[in-house]
Amino acid sequence: MAPLTSLHVGGPARWFAQAATTEDVAAACRWCADADVPLCVLGGGTNMVVADRGADALVLQVAIRGVDFGPRGSSTSLRLGAGEPWDDAVSAAVSRDLAGLECLSGIPGSAGGTPVQNVGAYGQDVAQTIVGVTAFDRASGEIVMLNASDCQFGYRTSRFKSKDQGRFIVCEVLFELRVGPPTVTYPDVADHLAQSKVATPVLQDVRNAVLAIRKGKGMVIDPEDPDTRSVGSFFLNPVVDSARHAELGQVVEGTAPGFVLPTGQVKVPAAWLIEQSGFGRGYQAGAVGLSAKHPLAIVNRGAGTAREIVALARTIKQRVIDRFGIWLRAEPVFVGFGDDPDVAFVKEARS
Ligand SMILES: Cc1cc2nc3c(=O)[nH]c(=O)nc-3n(C[C@H](O)[C@H](O)[C@H](O)COP(=O)(O)OP(=O)(O)OC[C@H]3O[C@@H](n4cnc5c(N)ncnc54)[C@H](O)[C@@H]3O)c2cc1C
Repeated sequence: MAPLTSLHVGGPARWFAQAATTEDVAAACRWCADADVPLCVLGGGTNMVVADRGADALVLQVAIRGVDFGPRGSSTSLRLGAGEPWDDAVSAAVSRDLAGLECLSGIPGSAGGTPVQNVGAYGQDVAQTIVGVTAFDRASGEIVMLNASDCQFGYRTSRFKSKDQGRFIVCEVLFELRVGPPTVTYPDVADHLAQSKVATPVLQDVRNAVLAIRKGKGMVIDPEDPDTRSVGSFFLNPVVDSARHAELGQVVEGTAPGFVLPTGQVKVPAAWLIEQSGFGRGYQAGAVGLSAKHPLAIVNRGAGTAREIVALARTIKQRVIDRFGIWLRAEPVFVGFGDDPDVAFVKEARS
């Protein structure tokens, strides 16, 4: 599996198939049910840590293609096959002057992977534009149409990643894009545009700014850049109440950074907690480490193993707990680890 994932770790798949149509998806699911074989759905493999022993399952890569823009109005629909490369779709929307996805430029992976964790960056997430998902429901054996509220989107999550994990195979995603100005809410993007002397940004300006910022952080996959051999951010940014946020500042005898949410809670940058716990950019642990550009990205320096990745994640999480009492929660999906206690620990949430 290593060549099929952005971390480049993971042993063999017991079985492997690609689904080019919804019928292929249905047939693969029937085969798994008849043969009593577990199913593991793969998109671009950019948010997955696969165990060194591999996946004792049928790994089904969803490769359903199709890009279909609806008639142009004040809003325009975009229907994407789940196997479409996500950033190509963003680029196509921006070049048609359709707003809603521009801040999600440069995120790797497939269109079908985006609803799974409600992909987001720089002030947008796909929950803002997805109106429906067509999926194969393994519980009923039928193709179903889920509207946005059925998907139960949250911060980097949805029902596809929580209570119904493994139940639905996303075949198509339907977006509603608008004709209008780009989203510029994130300070990094606003600063970049100001430095580039762009006073009235259009969608392409915002896409260019986001791509440039992301490249600087090693967050655009580039085979020439070893800092991009990752799953992007390894941990989610924890959300705490304001009293807890103040306590975090006391630990460092200063103020902890944070973004106040409409609920009054504060989202704390996991990268800051990690750096303050002694893990700087470029931290090395054998053949794995932290990106030299971003402390939130655990990277495979070449010959790293999934075991080493998990061990480093465990060490980081423990140190952050010891210093701040915060339980960071891992963002990627773990495949083939069974009930491995280290993986259970890095995934565990506690407030
Ligand atoms: C350099 C880098 C930067 C990143 N930056 C961001 C970012 O800014 N914001 C962000 O949110 N994420 C980011 N990510 C994470 C990742 O790119 C996204 O989560 C992406 O949407 C994953 O899509 P994928 O197709 O690669 O999914 P995979 O990694 O293949 O799969 C991830 C999960 O989704 C499931 N899945 C995939 N396709 C389907 C389908 N068709 N039906 C049902 N389930 C499916 C898999 O079973 C698995 O559980 C980044 C990753 C990297 C490597």
